[in-house]
Amino acid sequence: MLKVGLTGGIGCGKTTVSELFAELGVAVIDADLIARCLVQPGQPALRQIVAMWGKDMLESDGSLNRSRLRERVFSQPETKQALEALLHPLIFQAMRTEMAVLNNPYCLLAIPLLFETQMTALVDRILVIDCPTQLQIERVRRRDQLSTGQIEAIIASQVSREYRLAHADDLIENTASNDKLAEDVKKLHNLYLSFSNCQD
Ligand code: ATP
Repeated sequence: MLKVGLTGGIGCGKTTVSELFAELGVAVIDADLIARCLVQPGQPALRQIVAMWGKDMLESDGSLNRSRLRERVFSQPETKQALEALLHPLIFQAMRTEMAVLNNPYCLLAIPLLFETQMTALVDRILVIDCPTQLQIERVRRRDQLSTGQIEAIIASQVSREYRLAHADDLIENTASNDKLAEDVKKLHNLYLSFSNCQD
């Protein structure tokens, strides 16, 4: 089965594009969704987070206090490293497990930090969703309660746009309407189906 890694900077449209692929019946495995499942109450990773940084990391109902963890990650680089060392191998393994039971011509692995986490090892081909930085900032500002400075800090923590573009096998320029986006997705879908036929 052909494995296509979908990535892109914050707000470039990864979720929007993933949903369009899913509407075509494509199996989409979402790293963010897996990461959220891994820190649900009762999961070993959540217990580990509490063991490392205390009960302060929990809400009163026992779920992860995401804003407190985010604050800690932003203010302490060692927390970020330890959290990544805990979660990334688990995400990697969970993606492999989900792929193993698929019987599709190809699957899409939506991994926002594909390059940053070396998860390129999981995929055969890389699809980058791109848009100009200014548009990225505008979209995220409209969607989330974040300042321009906070969005710029997140962009700065990710690999550069240039790096992503240089390592893309396929590219979707998400600057136009949603209709154009659906057309681009359909074209790539047909391309991936043709590749998967060649693999058989
Ligand atoms: P994140 O990295 O934060 O998860 P993302 O890359 O998944 O973001 P989306 O959530 O798909 O990006 O898109 C960001 C915002 O921009 C959303 O509010 C989405 O509805 C909007 N958006 C995406 N593509 C377009 C488009 N072509 N036209 C208009 N709005 C768009």
